[in-house]
Amino acid sequence: MSTRGVAVLGSTGSVGTTALRVLARHRDRFRVAALTAFSNTELLETQALEFAPSFVGICANGATPHHGWTEGTQCLVEAATRGDVSIVINAIVGAAGLDATLAAVAAGKRVALANKETLVMAGALVAETCRRGGGELIPVDSEHSAILQCMAGRTSADVRRLVLTASGGPFREWMPDRLAMATIADALQHPTWRMGRKISIDSATLANKALEVIEAHFLFGLSYDQIEVVVHPQSIVHSFVEFVDGSVLAQMGTPSMELPVLYALTHPERVADDAMPRFDPGVWPELSFERVRTEDFPALALGLAAGRRGGAAPAVFNAANEQAVSLFLANRIRFMDIARAIESALAHCGDGPGDTRAAVLAADGAARQHVLEMFAC
Ligand code: NAD
Ligand code: MG
Repeated sequence: MSTRGVAVLGSTGSVGTTALRVLARHRDRFRVAALTAFSNTELLETQALEFAPSFVGICANGATPHHGWTEGTQCLVEAATRGDVSIVINAIVGAAGLDATLAAVAAGKRVALANKETLVMAGALVAETCRRGGGELIPVDSEHSAILQCMAGRTSADVRRLVLTASGGPFREWMPDRLAMATIADALQHPTWRMGRKISIDSATLANKALEVIEAHFLFGLSYDQIEVVVHPQSIVHSFVEFVDGSVLAQMGTPSMELPVLYALTHPERVADDAMPRFDPGVWPELSFERVRTEDFPALALGLAAGRRGGAAPAVFNAANEQAVSLFLANRIRFMDIARAIESALAHCGDGPGDTRAAVLAADGAARQHVLEMFAC
C-alpha cells in the first residue's frame, strides 16, 4: 500500500503533538511530509529528526531556523499545498490558520481541521473555496468528529437536530461573584481536557461552544435552530445527532484527541489501533447532563447571535475573543471583560460583509483594534 503524505501545521501544540503520536503508529498508511511551528524550534527539531519530513517551516520572525527550514508565515501555505501532501492537519490556533486552510482546500487537499477559528471567521468562503477546489474538510474537533461518525453516510436532510456536549469548563459551578474574580490559573484548570492556553480559556468562558456551534453550522449545513448545547461534565458523550425519525445516536469515548485525529485521517474508513485509549462503561457509573447557565456565561449567547447575524459578525466575534483572551492571559483584563469585549466589538464592528478574504480580514482587524482601544492598550 502506498502511503499518503500528511502536513502537520502547528506540530508543536497540543493537537499537533497528539497527531504525531497517532501518525507514528500508522506509518504503513501515512508519511509525515511537512511540519510547521510558530517558535518552538527545539521541539520542531526533535520532531523533524523523528519523522524526516521533506519540508519544515518555522513562522516566527527571529526564531533561529535550522539549515533547510523555511522561515516566515508563508511557510504555512507552502506546506499546505505541496505536491507530496494529500492531507493537511491544521492544528494552528486562531485566525493565523485561515490562509493555510483556504490554500489547502483550493488545491484539492483533505484538511483535517482542528483550527475551528478558520471556519468561524470565514465559513462561507472556506466552503465555497472547498467546493471549487475539490478539497475536503474533515473535523478534528471531538464534537464534530462525533457528529460525522454518527452521520455515517446519512445526509443533513436526515437530521432533525444536533446536540453538542460541553464539559462546562472549570467554572461550571461558580457563581457570578466568584467568576468576576477568576484568575488565569483558575481559568486554565480544565476539568477533563489538557489543551493549549487559548482554547482552555475559551472553554472557561464557553466562547469555545459558540465557536463550535458556528463550526457545526458550516460543516453540516444545518440552521442554527437545529443546533443545541448541553452540559455534560464527564466529557464521555462527545455529541448527539437526532434524526428525523426521532432516533438519537451518540459517539462516546474517554476524552482523548487521538481518535478524532485518526478518524479525520481515515474517514470514512475505520483503521485498527490497539493503542487507542479504551472506554470502559463500568468505571463510569454516572453520565450526567444539565442545561447551560447561559446568563452567567454571556460569551456563548453572543457567539450564537453573531452566527445567526452572519456577514462579518462571526469574524468579529472570533477576533474580539482572540484579542481579549490574549489580554486576559497577559493579566491586562479580568475574566468577565472577555465577554464585555466581544459584546462591544460586535456592537461597533459587527455589520458588513464576510464573504471575501479581504472583508473577513478587515472585520478581524477592526475588532482587534476596538478591543485594544476599549482597554486603552
Ligand atoms: P496550542 O497552543 O497547543 O498549539 C498551537 C500550535 O499552533 C503550535 O504548534 C504553535 O506553534 C502554532 N501557532 C500558534 N500561533 C501561530 C501563528 N500565529 N502562526 C503559525 N503557527 C502558530 O493549541 P491547541 O490546543 O493544539 O489548539 C489548536 C487548535 O485546535 C485550536 O484552534 C483549538 O481550538 C483546536 N482544538 C484543540 C483541542 C485540544 O484538545 N487541544 C481540541 C479541539 C480543538
Ligand atoms: Mg471541541
